[in-house]
Amino acid sequence: MNKNSLVVDLHMHSTSSDGVLSPSALVDLNAENHVDIMALTDHDTLEGLSEAREAANRKGIRFINGVEMTASWEKKVLHIIALDFDPENLSLKQSLEDLKLQRLDRAERIAKKLQNIGIPGSLAGAQKYAREGLITRPHFAQFLVEAGKANDPQEAFDRYLGRKKKAWVATEWPPMEKVIDTIHHAGGLAVLAHPLRYKLTASWMYRLLTAFKKTGGEGMEVVCGYYTPIEIKTSVGFALRFDLMGSVGSDFHGHSLYNNQPGTCSPLPDSLTPIWSLFKDL
Ligand SMILES: [Zn+2]
Ligand SMILES: [Zn+2]
Repeated sequence: MNKNSLVVDLHMHSTSSDGVLSPSALVDLNAENHVDIMALTDHDTLEGLSEAREAANRKGIRFINGVEMTASWEKKVLHIIALDFDPENLSLKQSLEDLKLQRLDRAERIAKKLQNIGIPGSLAGAQKYAREGLITRPHFAQFLVEAGKANDPQEAFDRYLGRKKKAWVATEWPPMEKVIDTIHHAGGLAVLAHPLRYKLTASWMYRLLTAFKKTGGEGMEVVCGYYTPIEIKTSVGFALRFDLMGSVGSDFHGHSLYNNQPGTCSPLPDSLTPIWSLFKDL
C-alpha cells in the first residue's frame, strides 16, 4: 500500500495529560474517523499507553507508543514528540518522573501566584480537571473560566497563564539535546512538534532546525491540526531544507483550545518521507 494514503495521526492527548477523553474513548473516536495508525502523545507521561494499546488492538488500529516531551533550547520551551520507543526503558521513565516533579512544582507556583492576586483554590480546582493526570496550564485555564475570571480558556492564557502574564512562572525544562538522547536510548524517534507555534523568526527557525538535525532528530510535524495550507507549505520547505522526515498530528485535546478532530489533517505531501516509514513492524 502507498504509505501516504494511510490515515495517520501521531499527536493527540487523553485524560492522562490535558485531553478530555479517556485513552479508550480517544481510540473509539479514531476508529470512527477511520484512522489506520495512531499515536497517543500525552505530555510527559506514558500512563495512558497500555489502555490505548488494548483498545486500538480491539479496533484494528495500528498503535504507536508516543509521548510529548517538554524541552528547552536557547531559553525557549519546545515540545518533542517521541514515537515508537520501549515504554519500559529505565532512563526514559526516570526523565518522565523528573518532568512530573517539575510540573507539580510549576503547578504549585502558578497556584501561589493566582492566590496572591486574589484567586484562591486554583490548585485543587485545576486538579479536578486533571483528574488523576498531571496538572497542565489548560487545566488552570478551565478552572479560571469556572471561577468567572475569564470567558474562555484562551482569555485565561492571555490574562493569567501565558508568557509574562500575571500567573506566569518560568520553568527550567531539560535541554533539547538531552531529551533527544533519552528518546534514542529508548529506541524511539524524535519529532519536533508544531515548529511554527514557537513564533520564531526565520533565522531562529534555521538555528533550531540546524541544532535539532545535528542532535539526530529524525522528523518534524509538517501537518498540524491547526496549520493553515500556507503554514503546511512553509513547513514542507523547512523539512526538505533540513532533510527531516514529515509527521502528521492533529494535537487533538477535545476542549475548545485544541479541538482538531483526530484523523482529519491533510495527508503528508508526497515530497516528504513519512516518519512512519521508520516504524518497527509496519
Ligand atoms: Zn505541544
Ligand atoms: Zn500536543
